[in-house]
Amino acid sequence: MDPITDGAELWRLTAEHSPIGMALVGLDGQWLFCNRALSHMLGYEPAELTQLEMRTITHPGDLSENLERVASLLAGEIDSFRIRKRYIHASGEIVYGDLSVALARDAAGDPLYLVSQVLDVTEQQDNETRLAAAAADTELERRTLEAIFETVGVGLLLINRDGRYERMNRLHAEFMRLAFPDGHDGLAGKTGEVYHLDGETLMIREEMPSYRATRGEEFDDFTYWVGADPLTQAAFSVTARQMRDPSGNRTGAVLAYQEITELMRAIQVRNQFVASVSHELRTPLTSVLGHLEMLGDRDDLSAEVLGQLDVAQRNANRLRALVSDLLQVAQAQEGNLELQRRPADVAALVREEVEALRPTAERKQVVTDASGPDDLIIEIDEQRIRQVIDNLVTNAVKYTEPGGAVHVSLRPTGGGVEIAVTDTGIGIPADELDRVFSRFFRGSGAVVGQIPGTGLGLNIVASIVRAHGGTIGLQSEVGRGSTFLVTLPAKGS
Ligand code: ADP
Repeated sequence: MDPITDGAELWRLTAEHSPIGMALVGLDGQWLFCNRALSHMLGYEPAELTQLEMRTITHPGDLSENLERVASLLAGEIDSFRIRKRYIHASGEIVYGDLSVALARDAAGDPLYLVSQVLDVTEQQDNETRLAAAAADTELERRTLEAIFETVGVGLLLINRDGRYERMNRLHAEFMRLAFPDGHDGLAGKTGEVYHLDGETLMIREEMPSYRATRGEEFDDFTYWVGADPLTQAAFSVTARQMRDPSGNRTGAVLAYQEITELMRAIQVRNQFVASVSHELRTPLTSVLGHLEMLGDRDDLSAEVLGQLDVAQRNANRLRALVSDLLQVAQAQEGNLELQRRPADVAALVREEVEALRPTAERKQVVTDASGPDDLIIEIDEQRIRQVIDNLVTNAVKYTEPGGAVHVSLRPTGGGVEIAVTDTGIGIPADELDRVFSRFFRGSGAVVGQIPGTGLGLNIVASIVRAHGGTIGLQSEVGRGSTFLVTLPAKGS
């Protein structure tokens, strides 16, 4: 027998060895044949499988569709059909198959039997199920992020690597209308009604947060005003972060804009309040001091009254110093710290200040001295720098125990100067080093030791040094002492 010429044998061989499940089912539902692939797929031996009814190996949920299709086929309504159905494996597990069924007919066209082919798609189905679950998860996450994106109280903006606006939430779209009433082309760096903290100086392209973010910068709480009308201006604080792909390449940036108008107005009001109160206090205080001085000049007062006058005078002087500190802090805050720079001899200035404080230091048994060149002329606001040295040396003496020492050294630095004020005092704990320059900050040493002060001195010092374009640094160790290092550059450097 030649299998090539004998069609039945050829069919048997093909069916037997096909990787696809194959079966012949009689019109009465009896299995006539099933191949190895099909019995393997369903977990039976071929002989076992042919003993089973179709409904036994079909998932109940798919049975009626299967039967309907077979009925249509037998009724001659269709020539073949194809469905995906669930089979019940011998182990009880569900396996998925793509079933194709055709009706074989004899030469006269009468139905003979059903030819079924089943492709095991369990793995594919599992993958599809997993994919669908992953897609559903992704969709849920997308919706959650979308909801957060739109409901957070900050304006959010996403820009791509080239600074093109990719997405923004509704709140940011509102903010955009304030800053760019004439519209925006969606490209980072466009200038608009965006002002620096003085509320008047317009920001240039290079200063715009979106432009800076496009250049790869990251920053926190960059604050500015938006809008030309001072009455309706709004203040914003913006934070920028870069986005990168898994290889670390920049893909863009996210910017978060928080409206802080109320906070900024509150700060303004507080500063104005401090400024006006201290201004208003100055005039009556000057009068009080003047009259106290005149009283002190009288020669008909008893020693007791003179003693009381002295106390009143000392306290009025302290009050005046406090008021002038407050005024100065308020001015520095407003950016109104105007300098009157003239060439001045810093060396002489340091010597004079140390000399002026010597009596106070001696009373406390603290030794003071100064070292450095005989003269060193640079352009500074002499009054203000005097105040810097006075504040630093006063602190050094104030925070040094009897028996200690305070040393001021001066060093020229390429047109500028470096002034170091070193003491052997109580020192400053590491966690306070950053804060001592903040307004009204009083260190634990000052509080515990009940050393009088307002917490304004170093803030004033720092703002004067900054206004000169200089820097102030601090090194300190608790129990060993502190060094405040001020550098002032040559003017214009
Ligand atoms: P004040 O001396 O009025 O408290 P300052 O602004 O001058 O305010 O100083 C802030 C704080 O820094 C002080 O309260 C004190 O704790 C600390 N401090 C300043 N100078 C020194 C110093 N030389 N040694 C130790 N602590 C200091």
